[in-house]
Amino acid sequence: MATRFVVIGGGPAGVAAATHAARLGAEVSLIERDVIGGAAHLWDCIPSKAMIATGGALAFLQRSEGMGLETVNPTIDTTNLSDRLASITGHLATANNELLTSQNVNIIRGTGRLVGPNLVEATLDDGTVQNIEADSILLSTGSRPRIPEWCAPDGDRILTTRDAYPPPVIPSHLTVVGSGVTGVEFVHMFTSLGAEVTLIVSRQHVLPDKDPEVAYELEQNFIDRGVNLLKGARSESIERVGDKVVVKCNDGRVVESSHALLAIGSVPNSDKLNLEAAGVEHEWGYVPINDFSQSNVPHIYAAGDLSGKLPLSSVATMQGRKIAEHMMGRLNDEEHRYISYSKAASAIFTEPEIADVGVSQAEAFAQGRKVRVTKVPFSSAAKALINDDPRGFVKLISDPATGVVLGGSIVGRHAAELISIIALCVQNQLTTDDLAHTLFVHPTLSETLLDAAE
Ligand SMILES: Cc1cc2nc3c(=O)[nH]c(=O)nc-3n(C[C@H](O)[C@H](O)[C@H](O)COP(=O)(O)OP(=O)(O)OC[C@H]3O[C@@H](n4cnc5c(N)ncnc54)[C@H](O)[C@@H]3O)c2cc1C
Repeated sequence: MATRFVVIGGGPAGVAAATHAARLGAEVSLIERDVIGGAAHLWDCIPSKAMIATGGALAFLQRSEGMGLETVNPTIDTTNLSDRLASITGHLATANNELLTSQNVNIIRGTGRLVGPNLVEATLDDGTVQNIEADSILLSTGSRPRIPEWCAPDGDRILTTRDAYPPPVIPSHLTVVGSGVTGVEFVHMFTSLGAEVTLIVSRQHVLPDKDPEVAYELEQNFIDRGVNLLKGARSESIERVGDKVVVKCNDGRVVESSHALLAIGSVPNSDKLNLEAAGVEHEWGYVPINDFSQSNVPHIYAAGDLSGKLPLSSVATMQGRKIAEHMMGRLNDEEHRYISYSKAASAIFTEPEIADVGVSQAEAFAQGRKVRVTKVPFSSAAKALINDDPRGFVKLISDPATGVVLGGSIVGRHAAELISIIALCVQNQLTTDDLAHTLFVHPTLSETLLDAAE
């Protein structure tokens, strides 16, 4: 009899695990209460990047003089923009559905929860209840925005990251609370779309977990674009007063704006999973996992944001694939057994784009680890001049003794694409020599990586 695998939650982790397990011969049921593709497609990765791309197109047209064109001044059509977002997410949902059905995955539209170690209950959209027996179970229910007790989002002027698109109007003045990755992406997005933006930064710099040089570059860009930075301030209340939103900070400062957006992290979707029924342990709602993504109950796996590892769609997808392989007894190749979370590339889709992977210069310094750091500005690349955008740099971190590439940071146009080259080196322990002897295309921005590897 085929292994019966039940997946609760059809985001990147759930879809990858379900498809892969079905390909490997499992009998798979996937329960999803909303849209296949998950929060990643509906609210997080995709619509945010689509809005940022629209802002980028606007900015590009506005500075078209640098490309030898007459300056044009396009305006935003919010109806058109909403249609664009709906079309992208709709297209991706259809593609995911087709992928799952092509692999004979049984898609169950409803809400799932555990009722025993090998039994899952699905309450279908029409209210009927179905019990499904499972040999293995994956919990991949993702997370949702964290809402503090001092704020009540109304979806109109006090927003979470899920209320921001499609926007019926572009806020005239938006206060963003939270200066981590999500916060700065929203600052960039709405600044590009023409809003005045104030960013409340609880520390002395944005992106406190990133290489300070990288964070500095972004901060300078924000300042140049007129973003108001309120540093060292913690918000302690957000209230609607008429058609204004008032944000009060712990140091007495007050910001009045037309809208406010909360970007202060997320909480896991585990409260309704009935984890206790199967004896699954959790910490603050996250399900801790071992190297194979197993919970404390070996045949119950957890992946994606729920697992409390790196909250990235790419990581969720990789976990899903590996879970399918582990469950089906295919993880024999020692090298490909584990996910090296420390080698995951990540990016921030601001302007300039920021991306990094592996060991950073600041981390190496903090650990007293000897590393070779080479930094090359994009202004030295012909392609940057062709693009009329010489901003940013590539920083490559390698082992001085062996030349093995340990990590890197990139700030500048297409950083999120270019970092994959360094990620490939880090994952496969390639050396700076390997990189420097590869023939890249000329003229490209990627040549800057070759210069950094010299
Ligand atoms: C604004 C924002 C932008 C982001 N941008 C990026 C980015 O550019 N790149 C990147 O890599 N990451 C990005 N992320 C992170 C990324 O979205 C998450 O890491 C990713 O979505 C996690 O995938 P997942 O499979 O765990 O869950 P999700 O995508 O959250 O999907 C979980 C699914 O489970 C369903 N579900 C929940 N409970 C139940 C239940 N009981 N029964 C049935 N179904 C259920 C939900 O409806 C949902 O569809 C972003 C996050 C945010 C907030």
